[in-house]
This record gives sequence, C-alpha cells and structure tokens, in this order.
Amino acid sequence: CGIVGVLGKHEVAPILVEALKRLEYRGYDSAGIATINNGVLDRRRAVGKLVNLSDLLVHEPLAGKSGIGHTRWATHGAPTLNNAHPHRAGAVAVVHNGIIENFRELRAELAADGIDFQTDTDTETVALLAERFLNRGETPVEAAMKTIDRLEGAFALAFLVEGEDDLIIAARRGSPLAIGHGDGEMYVGSDAIALAPLTDRITYLEEGDRALLTRTTLEIRDAKGAQVSRPVKTVRIDS
Ligand code: GLU
Repeated sequence: CGIVGVLGKHEVAPILVEALKRLEYRGYDSAGIATINNGVLDRRRAVGKLVNLSDLLVHEPLAGKSGIGHTRWATHGAPTLNNAHPHRAGAVAVVHNGIIENFRELRAELAADGIDFQTDTDTETVALLAERFLNRGETPVEAAMKTIDRLEGAFALAFLVEGEDDLIIAARRGSPLAIGHGDGEMYVGSDAIALAPLTDRITYLEEGDRALLTRTTLEIRDAKGAQVSRPVKTVRIDS
C-alpha cells in the first residue's frame, strides 16, 4: 500500500521505517524492508503494526545504505509474514503496490519452467520474472525493464538487486510514485509526504514511466523505453 526507497549516505533502515510511518495513514496489514550491505541483499518483515518491524530490527538489525520498504494492504494472499513484501527471488527484491492482473498466466509460465513459488501473492511473479531475466544474462536494468513490459494491471514497483549498491529501479503504472532528490542521495516514495523529512525536491513519474535511480543521477524512460525529462518541483509539506 506504500512504497519507499533510499539510496543514502547513512544507515538506511531507520530512515525507511520513518518514511513508512509517514505512509501509515493509507492503512496496512504488514510491513518490511530490504537493504544492500557490502553488496549483500537481505530483508526483514513483520505482520501488523510498524512497531513490530522496528522491534524486529532491534533484535535483528539490517545494515546498509541502500534499501526499499513497503507497507502492505493484501489483495492476493493472506496478510501473513510469508506474503509480506519485499519479495525476493535470488538476487532480486521487489516492493509493489497495486495488482498484477496477469499474475496467473505469469505463474503458469514460470511453473512450466520448473520455478517454485514461496508465496500466494501476485507480486512474487515480478521478482521471479526479473530473476529469470538476470539468469538469462540480462543486466539488472534490462531485467527490470523486460519484467515491467510483461506486467498488466495497475501498480507501482521498486526493485533492489544484490551486488548493486547504487541502483533502485522504479516504475509507475496506475499508482502514483514520486522521486526525491537529496544531496548525494536519491529517494522514491508513494507520495511526497513520505519523503518530506528527506527532501522537498520532487519529480513525479508520469503514467508508464520507469526510473533508474543512483545517488547522483535520475534517468526516466517512458513506457516505450525513450528517455524523457520530467520537472523537479519544490513540494513543501509541513512535517
Ligand atoms: N497485490 C500485492 C499484495 O497483495 C500488493 C498489495 C499492496 O498494494 O499493498 O501483496
């Protein structure tokens, strides 16, 4: 129900949880974050209130300066720990708002390839598709682009890929997504409210856009893959 992502200069777990708190108003049933630390991808998830995730992080900290986070409002699959985002397949972690309408076809295609499923969600197919493209030799960016091309429905997505400390790939179709510009940092969030403590410089993705974030660059491509430019706006939100 809410997405955040941070490529930062500091430990990112508390920043992600704080940003997720600012999306609490949307409602949610579970939450989770994934980070990359020294190239290694890991995640923590908890059912229920965000405080459950914060408590878990006290006992099982998650280091790293790159990360994505999610509050879930279950549409496909019960609100269980296993179905909580981020979803992971091999090197790929993904957070998703919305619904992948063609997930049954995608699941059938992946199952025919001998791929197993860990969850009941529509989202897991996104992580599995991206991992399959990676395994076929695509770069992380191309794997994400080809995955997004295969999806039907209304969604916002953010990908984190193991070994890629300076990359978040995000996409918007039907669900809003904002990119935040920091000073040597870059952020993504479901709305500017989530990012308000971090920055007031916001680029809103347009329908069909995909965004390639690094700490210092933002490349936006439209649904056809052409590079496009979207304005940076100053969005002031009282926090
Ligand atoms: N359809 C996804 C799920 O049920 C995402 C739900 C959401 O937007 O939080 O896991």
